[in-house]
Amino acid sequence: MSPEPPPRTVRGRGGRQWASLPGHGVRRRLGGGGTRVPPGTTGPARRTHDRESPVSETSACRVAIIGFGPRGFGCLERLAVEVSRRGSGRPPLFVTAHDPRSHPGAGPPYDPDQPDGMLLNFSARHVNIWSDDNTLVPPGERLDFVGWLGRYHPGWAAGDAFVPRRLLGSYLEEAFESLRAALPPGLEFRHVRGVVRDLEPAGAGWSIRHDDPSLDLAGVHQVMVATGHGTWSANRGFDAWNRELPDAPGTRRIAAVYPVVDRLSRDAVPDGAVVGMRGFALTAIDAALALTEGRGGTFEDQGDGIPRYRGPGGREVTVVPFSRSGLPLLAKPGAALVKRSSELTDVWEPLRRGILEADGLTPGALLQRLHRAGLRAVAALGGGVSRPAPRMGGVGSSPSSGPLRVMERSVLVASGLLPPDEGWARGEAWRQAYPAVVSRAGEGGMAAAFPAAFARLACAMERYAFGPPASNLARMVALASAGRVDLGAVRAPRIRAREDRLVLVGATSSYVLDVLVNAVIPPPGVHEATPVLLKLVRRGQASRAAGWEGVMVSPSAESIGRDGAPTPGLSIVGRATEGWVLGNDTLNRNLHDHTRRWAQRIVGESAVAVPESSRMTAGAPNG
Ligand SMILES: Cc1cc2nc3c(=O)[nH]c(=O)nc-3n(C[C@H](O)[C@H](O)[C@H](O)COP(=O)(O)OP(=O)(O)OC[C@H]3O[C@@H](n4cnc5c(N)ncnc54)[C@H](O)[C@@H]3O)c2cc1C
Repeated sequence: MSPEPPPRTVRGRGGRQWASLPGHGVRRRLGGGGTRVPPGTTGPARRTHDRESPVSETSACRVAIIGFGPRGFGCLERLAVEVSRRGSGRPPLFVTAHDPRSHPGAGPPYDPDQPDGMLLNFSARHVNIWSDDNTLVPPGERLDFVGWLGRYHPGWAAGDAFVPRRLLGSYLEEAFESLRAALPPGLEFRHVRGVVRDLEPAGAGWSIRHDDPSLDLAGVHQVMVATGHGTWSANRGFDAWNRELPDAPGTRRIAAVYPVVDRLSRDAVPDGAVVGMRGFALTAIDAALALTEGRGGTFEDQGDGIPRYRGPGGREVTVVPFSRSGLPLLAKPGAALVKRSSELTDVWEPLRRGILEADGLTPGALLQRLHRAGLRAVAALGGGVSRPAPRMGGVGSSPSSGPLRVMERSVLVASGLLPPDEGWARGEAWRQAYPAVVSRAGEGGMAAAFPAAFARLACAMERYAFGPPASNLARMVALASAGRVDLGAVRAPRIRAREDRLVLVGATSSYVLDVLVNAVIPPPGVHEATPVLLKLVRRGQASRAAGWEGVMVSPSAESIGRDGAPTPGLSIVGRATEGWVLGNDTLNRNLHDHTRRWAQRIVGESAVAVPESSRMTAGAPNG
């Protein structure tokens, strides 16, 4: 293992400094003062067009939330809570949320219009979009997801169910309406339905440029970028890969899977087509189900954990997935196994404590801790493991049997039909340790000290820990048994052209493709697929964490610029910060505190009187 690098110092304006102490995951605040935006940093007002504004001319502090999925919603909710607490007589906050989608709060993964087969990959009882201290929204409207399901979809209300993502989208949409109705005096809100193209510093504030310039806003004091997975309008990661493929116009290429109703329609993927599927993870499972169950196929329970697939009759699609490793995801354990494992406090508590307290923890040492705890858990639950302790280089390498057997076994273990095994142990140890790992590795900790080794470990563990629900993996096994999913080229096939078609050349078989579907979503962080953020990085207003694509932020989500100081008025939250903040592309609001601290900071700063001359008029939000 390489020696630990010296502490990295991140400078704050106003004398604040944090020292990132690699190996300890602790960032100490060294200096005093905050990054409060002084009154002078507010830019002059500017009307960007002539439409009549429905917004008060006296709004003192203008906040723009770019992207209004679950995280954007969380930002608005926290602002509302903080504003309601600060008492009367303070300058109001004018908040705009910029997002083209017609389902505010839901975000594309939870599109309420998608088919039922697209399931959440964690159980409903983990989802609650509301903060505990929100007293603005009446309790009867501030339901957690299970409570909401009980009211509107009781068939799904068992807390351990993995429910269709579209239901979560409806829950989020309704939550947004409840929040909007309950916003406190002193917070004005508008939804601007447009795609943001760029964020430009203008004077001491920010201008927000949209694809539709008539929506542009100027003189914004605080911008929060919460663009998550982007707009899904294009997939530039695929474009680069695709350019390397041979010319073969007889094979249709589909750059992205979502929304499946449009991208995988019968027009796009005709019945009977042989479909090469780039990717073998959650998106590929969604795509395979959309092309089979979504076209009238059914799954019949056989009582042995793996259902039988019955096609709708007629010509059906054959899906040929492939990935670099060819390794399948493992199933999330069912409720009974989750409960049995949660009772092993003598295994998991010491694991978490050890991770938080160990001196100079390295990824290799972390792996050994996880392994030992996993073995103890398996033994306690009556399972068995025969393989030796993994080495860093070996974790995530080929399993001893083929992918179909691995998937099948994983389903049976997750359903309690086979005793826990090594795969379960790895996944469960990672899940149980995750909050401790996040705290220890993020924000200048182990992930900064050992970026390559930590990324390798995290990537390998995700396959074990954060796979699909057992029911969906079981469906993949059923589809493979029925020949609708063909694993004959699953590991790193070559791709050639024959006549005008692409051909997948696998270890045992070749497939002439009618369609090639990209089922790999762009990675987290900042890159070509996140153009707004990429411009901020190129201009030095945001900067990537060393060894990662994700950008650095302060504990209250301020973007750390190239100069190591927070960029005034710019904050970033969510997937774009992955690598600096770990595991934040999730609905779980308890793992990180950036949004709450951001809202406290913004509301605190907004108490500073804004000179009359810098008060703004609004654009023309539509919402
Ligand atoms: C298919 C899929 C399934 C998932 N399943 C789960 C799950 O089961 N459980 C879980 O915890 N997590 C899941 N996730 C992770 C998921 O991303 C997070 O749970 C959550 O959606 C993150 O919220 P977000 O608001 O940060 O990002 P998003 O949900 O991606 O929302 C970002 C919003 O920003 C908008 N936007 C983007 N760019 C712009 C722009 N330039 N201008 C204006 N608006 C813009 C988008 O329209 C979107 O509404 C899943 C992700 C995917 C892709």
